[in-house]
Amino acid sequence: MSTVDEKLEPILAEVLRRNAGEAEFHQAVREVLESLGRVIAKHPDYADNALIERICEPERQIIFRVPWVDDKGRVQINRGFRVQFNSALGPYKGGVRFHPSVNLGIIKFLGFEQIFKNALTGLPIGGGKGGSDFNPRGRSDGEIMRFCQSFMTELHRHLGEHTDVPAGDIGVGAREIGYMFGQYKRLTNRYEAGVLTGKGLAYGGSRARREATGYGATYFVQRMLATKGIELEDKRVVVSGSGNVAIYTMEKILSFGGKVVACSDSGGYVVDESGIDLALVKEIKEVRRGRIAEYVRLKGNGTRYVEQGSIWEVACDIAMPSATQNELTGKDARTLVVNGVLAVGEGANMPSTPDAVRIFQGAGVLFAPGKAANAGGVATSALEMQQNASRDSWTFEQTEQRLAEIMGNIHDRCAETAEEYGASGDYVLGANIVGFVRVAEAMRALGVI
Ligand code: NDP
Repeated sequence: MSTVDEKLEPILAEVLRRNAGEAEFHQAVREVLESLGRVIAKHPDYADNALIERICEPERQIIFRVPWVDDKGRVQINRGFRVQFNSALGPYKGGVRFHPSVNLGIIKFLGFEQIFKNALTGLPIGGGKGGSDFNPRGRSDGEIMRFCQSFMTELHRHLGEHTDVPAGDIGVGAREIGYMFGQYKRLTNRYEAGVLTGKGLAYGGSRARREATGYGATYFVQRMLATKGIELEDKRVVVSGSGNVAIYTMEKILSFGGKVVACSDSGGYVVDESGIDLALVKEIKEVRRGRIAEYVRLKGNGTRYVEQGSIWEVACDIAMPSATQNELTGKDARTLVVNGVLAVGEGANMPSTPDAVRIFQGAGVLFAPGKAANAGGVATSALEMQQNASRDSWTFEQTEQRLAEIMGNIHDRCAETAEEYGASGDYVLGANIVGFVRVAEAMRALGVI
């Protein structure tokens, strides 16, 4: 079992003290610190000058009021956040999440993870994250637009293509990015395409950005399986969620000949032994913005819907948790192991609890942590920034090719680094160390920042 090295314990204790009650942030920091014991044993100077303490402290945390008017003319208030965590490698980069569960601790956990993920891509992007406790469910298009405009009215003063570049996340897709970009443009009177990514193709978006996180996670898992001589073809796959990451994970798995038998949303999960009909999921989720329960009503025979319950009870060879943090518990991990799971690829951020990760690794299951496996989204966002900067637009094939190369590199660097540090096959350790070393090197060169 990993523990935090005693030299790093005071750092963790201070993070817990200063950020009281932020359980997810504590969890994310603890996991990284658990990996760093081996680094400072080899290179003690990384512990000098409070370097690790500085990495754990955001450069800037912004919290703001978001007032807006609903369709009944009532004034609503939400809270907005942007945590600009680390800009040693480039402008802050990371998505915006609209979900009622959002609070400062959630945004800090996501921002902290983002630092290492972005470093792993090898591209010049720092780490940040934002969001609001706004619940988009059941809101009209007009309400969504007014909320996005109000959110951007405050946020815009903190953004810029060289400063901070948000993208989407839970509850924020192309529609919301469009409304936010429109408001940014009005407020600044600048057509600054590189200030947001995940844009529509009509106004500066990149081909394959929508698909990138799910495709990238699948490429990562494919490469991880290949190290054991296993192929994705004919494997039974369970993908949680049915949002952006889940849908394009399913699409890529299908293209590799895998069979997806279950997916979910926050209401429950559907099982279709004949293979999930992805066109139907897209129709329900992307077009109608409906509930996954409708799948069973529309598809009928041979399908079932389980309200609440755990999707991880569905036996599979490969599990791709792609909904939200801590959705896969120790109990779920035990069930998956008993059912013979071979590999787990995290499309979501931190979807497996620490217990679950220990169980997978202890049982020899190939485990790809989110900060490596889902880095294809932000990597393609950086490619979108490149296209915007050069006023260019690449083909889908070109962009996907770059994505595949980046995911292959991330995989290989994580695997090699785990090996170098005496923990062969431990992608969690490999990802944390590769990300940390790149950020630490830049921070050292920049003086006490
Ligand atoms: P979406 O909003 O498109 O989809 C989220 C999916 O997860 C929906 O099916 C949603 O169900 C479900 N879900 C959300 N919250 C919960 C919850 N508390 N319990 C159960 N199910 C839940 O988001 P994305 O697909 O963009 O994001 C999914 C995950 O991937 C997140 O962890 C995100 O941080 C991560 N990620 C996303 C990237 C991107 O490019 N979009 C990049 C890297 C990581 P319902 O519709 O019922 O709410």
